[in-house]
Amino acid sequence: MHGYKRLLRYIARQWHWFAGIAVLTVASAASAALQPWPMKLLVDYALGDAELPPQLASGHAAASGDPTPAFLLFVAVGAHLGLFLLNSALTAALTLSWTNGGQRMVYDLASDVFAKLQRLSPLFHSRRSVGDSLSRLSGDTWCIYSVANGLLMSPLQRLATLGAMAAVGFALDPLLAALSLAAAPLLAFSARFFGRRLKQRAKRGRESSSRIASFVQQTFSAMPVVQAFSTEDRNREQLESLAEDAVEIALQGRLLNSAYGLVNGAILSSGAALVLVVGGFRVLDGAIPLGTLLVFLSYIRKMQGSAGGLFTIFAKLKTAEASIERLMEILECDQEVREAPNAKPLPATPSGKSGHVMLEDVSFGYEPRRPVLNGVTLEARPGEVVALVGPSGAGKSTLMSLIPRLLDPWQGRVLIDGSDVRMATLDSVRARTALVSQETLLLPMTVAENIAYGRPGASRSEIHEAAIAAQADAFIRRLPNDYDTVIGERGASLSGGERQRLSFARALLKNAPILLLDEPTAALDAETEAQLLEALRQIMEGRTTFLVAHRLSTVRDADRIVVLEDGRVVEIGSHQELLARRGAYERLYHAQFPPAAREVVA
Ligand code: ATP
Repeated sequence: MHGYKRLLRYIARQWHWFAGIAVLTVASAASAALQPWPMKLLVDYALGDAELPPQLASGHAAASGDPTPAFLLFVAVGAHLGLFLLNSALTAALTLSWTNGGQRMVYDLASDVFAKLQRLSPLFHSRRSVGDSLSRLSGDTWCIYSVANGLLMSPLQRLATLGAMAAVGFALDPLLAALSLAAAPLLAFSARFFGRRLKQRAKRGRESSSRIASFVQQTFSAMPVVQAFSTEDRNREQLESLAEDAVEIALQGRLLNSAYGLVNGAILSSGAALVLVVGGFRVLDGAIPLGTLLVFLSYIRKMQGSAGGLFTIFAKLKTAEASIERLMEILECDQEVREAPNAKPLPATPSGKSGHVMLEDVSFGYEPRRPVLNGVTLEARPGEVVALVGPSGAGKSTLMSLIPRLLDPWQGRVLIDGSDVRMATLDSVRARTALVSQETLLLPMTVAENIAYGRPGASRSEIHEAAIAAQADAFIRRLPNDYDTVIGERGASLSGGERQRLSFARALLKNAPILLLDEPTAALDAETEAQLLEALRQIMEGRTTFLVAHRLSTVRDADRIVVLEDGRVVEIGSHQELLARRGAYERLYHAQFPPAAREVVA
């Protein structure tokens, strides 16, 4: 129920379209009720010898005497064509209104799902595939069409059709009208029976297309590995097997739908047969004219369908519920990192004094009872460079993620410039930090737009300055359209070092007082690293920097080196102090620089 309530909000926002659809629906039901009447006019009055109803006869007689059968035949054909045109115009207007209101509603919902997905933490995204999120965003959001139709428009349309036809039917012959509705409860039973099964099939169907989308997305994002390990054929087989499953599920769904259609068809046909038998005898007895029976036969499917459909709405909505559940999993998902209701921006600090970071007894884990960080206490004063070193999996990247509040600690506090980041607005915390990760993520935009990603309003000269400081200007100038080259297009794919320099420029332009560098040079060769370290030194100037590095040559000059092991701080000090202590750092150092090599480095 909650899911429906939430989706109704999106429908309400398009209320003007739905008001139009409601008017058109009622008009269309009235026009459908009129449709068999030209036939009655033709059979009973033009071809038969029934008395023309006084309303019709008097209208005509006033003008030009009794109508001839030929005249009535033309009137019947004219009315038939007129009703056809009216019906077509109403259908076209309804389709247009549905497309307009419906698509707006879908995109409105999709945009909220997109916004929520963007706010969910990296932890959430690491547990779900991009393909699955994409499939929920682009596929499941269409369920709102079914909700709008099933909850609002379909009942209205059915009630209007039923009301118009039942009113006419009961006026013509109450017995036949009652018989026309007799089969409706059976339709309700069949809807209940098939509804639950249809929902299960629909859910399995959505999950199987999600699996395909995830698999394709994962394969494309690992293309170099796919080709280097020649797994193309294996991947193709896997896709075929996933497709096989999808076909199987679709087939089961179709079979179930056909069975549902068959049962409904049998119920409707039995109802029609009943009306035909009783109505036939009434025509033979002379109780009603043939035209009246024709009107009933034309109404019966729609009347039964509309009455039964009022019960079947429940079943129809079941298929949409599979998608509603998948959407609610995102929309209602508890945001791990949530802005406090009374959050305030981090207080302004005088320049040069900004960028104080404090971690107080911080513990954190990705899974319950499996801490990755354990009671970490750490301070970085404005402008200091703090290096984090330690074995792989020690928790260095995790610690970095806590500072811009990409994750929240289980216990303890993270303070920036004296304020607990949990009490500050997310925007203000993120504005104070700039992250450069090992994996350089560039977007398919121009080089200039990529550099200005964190500050969209930046001027060209500011972008140039950042690129020059990050030693990126020279290679950018060699690109086909220099700063306007779109990354990824026309051979403008960049080397690892070039990409990393762009990400330095991006971080630099953001001009945040706290710089988080997570193994920024790990993927580069020693020579490129040496050049980049020079660029880095410029960028780090005057900023508090946290630097994760495996290569200890990178961290020797840091003000403080923090050695992490199994999520605990085991040593803190300068390079010289830690070497003198002859502990964990010295062991790491020896492993990388055996005595002979150390002399060269020193
Ligand atoms: P490396 O030097 O190899 O990058 P690290 O010191 O930066 O390692 P982290 O990436 O912080 O280590 O990981 C610490 C631990 O947390 C590891 O055991 C890792 O498997 C686990 N971990 C990291 N990310 C997740 C995640 N999204 N879900 C579950 N566990 C995770």
